[in-house]
Amino acid sequence: MEKLNRTKVKELLKDKPGKEVLAKGWVRTKRGNKNVAFIALNDGSTINNIQIVVDSSKFDEELLKKITTGACIGVSGNLTESLGSGQSVEIQAKEIILYGEADPNSYPLQKKGHTMEFLRSIAHLRPRTNTFGAVLRIRHAMAYAIHDYFNRKGFVYLHTPIITASDCEGAGEMFQVTTLDLNNIPKTGEGKIDFSQDFFGKQTSLTVSGQLEGELGAMALGEIYTFGPTFRAENSNTPRHLAEFWMIEPEMAFYDINDNMVLAEDFIKSLVRYALEHCMDDLKFLNDMFDKELISRLESVVNTEFVRLTYTEGIKILEASCEKFEYPVSWGVDLQSEHERYLVEKHFGKPVIMTDYPKDIKAFYMKQNEDGKTVRGMDVLFPKIGEIIGGSEREASLEKLENRINELGMGRESLEWYIDTRRFGTAPHSGFGLGFERLLLFVTGMSNIRDVIPFPRTPKNAEY
Ligand code: ATP
Ligand code: MN
Repeated sequence: MEKLNRTKVKELLKDKPGKEVLAKGWVRTKRGNKNVAFIALNDGSTINNIQIVVDSSKFDEELLKKITTGACIGVSGNLTESLGSGQSVEIQAKEIILYGEADPNSYPLQKKGHTMEFLRSIAHLRPRTNTFGAVLRIRHAMAYAIHDYFNRKGFVYLHTPIITASDCEGAGEMFQVTTLDLNNIPKTGEGKIDFSQDFFGKQTSLTVSGQLEGELGAMALGEIYTFGPTFRAENSNTPRHLAEFWMIEPEMAFYDINDNMVLAEDFIKSLVRYALEHCMDDLKFLNDMFDKELISRLESVVNTEFVRLTYTEGIKILEASCEKFEYPVSWGVDLQSEHERYLVEKHFGKPVIMTDYPKDIKAFYMKQNEDGKTVRGMDVLFPKIGEIIGGSEREASLEKLENRINELGMGRESLEWYIDTRRFGTAPHSGFGLGFERLLLFVTGMSNIRDVIPFPRTPKNAEY
């Protein structure tokens, strides 16, 4: 057996019968009778299993007994045409190596269907299920497609810091990073925490966004993007929020809000198109198991033009609707997911890019409109998800930016480096942030964000 090279199941299933092959993987099921056993073997390369046909008389009974669901084996044998339905080829086993047993009395993933809640409680094993295999392969494909998209467009992948001393959103939702002894915190003369004794000599946190540093990159390299982990200590126990998630943040010099919208729409459509072209086996499985409209929803997003709508127009539509919302709407309120989904799912029936929000509900760096009330922010709103992208044209004027920072009473000492972009060679520029897991919710049709990341971090949960 060791003379043969292992072939992945994905390749075997495309292969022609009539050759000796070696497959390795985990047993999904074993069925059969005294004379013959059929093993469904999966190695993670595809949602599909390869069928192994075992002539029981040729193998040690003790060995066959140990080949149970979850066990890991290597099998060599002849790849033959399969007479059974559902697969074109199968392996007639000649030799079997048992790498690892999985005790049927304690291995939690027996073949019956499990609830997503249960699988979350065994997140270390759930990648072995069809569902999580599919989701994780799609997650990989989307990450690859994102880098490919920007690389083709000439964007530079910029690595922005994960530990930072600046609070991009100013929302006070940051995880602190410290090496101070929490049982014996050094204090200053005024009784405050003495961060000068901390590792970095100042107060630091995990980043909530790479945008501010991304802007520095755009003002030198033209077009950049970040793609990294992001941390928010927001106590929102929703199916759309994680405390640790991944965000893609392109930032472009010389883009106005319209260029920004065009890019966001093209970007997201091209990612969905990539999934349809490269992940169809996995999508079909998810479509059949969870969400019968998944594939048609993906196709419709690729083929439709997103609606462009101002916040003010959106509020009018919501006010005129007969829908009973949990949170009432009026001009000035921050839209909730129920409002966003009403517009997208019921009113327009397609994705919406909403712009020109009241400045008081948006961040300090957004470009101020002439009206003195609104800013050039844009959110891309998606069916089933609500906000999938948040972005804006940035305020390029030094004076306006400084005034806004002062108006909000933000500590500008820690932002001088950022303000320098407006001081030296400022330029119109724009950018946005796409939540990677929100994209994956949409593409996979999963309904809880905890199920599109391998090891979710949410309030009171940081296993593994
Ligand atoms: P929301 O209102 O949904 O909390 P936000 O306005 O806080 O989102 P931004 O600060 O604009 O979001 O972040 C950009 C993108 O990052 C969002 O459009 C969303 O896709 C994603 N995102 C934000 N917060 C989270 C989170 N806690 N978990 C997962 N993704 C998130
Ligand atoms: Mn948020």
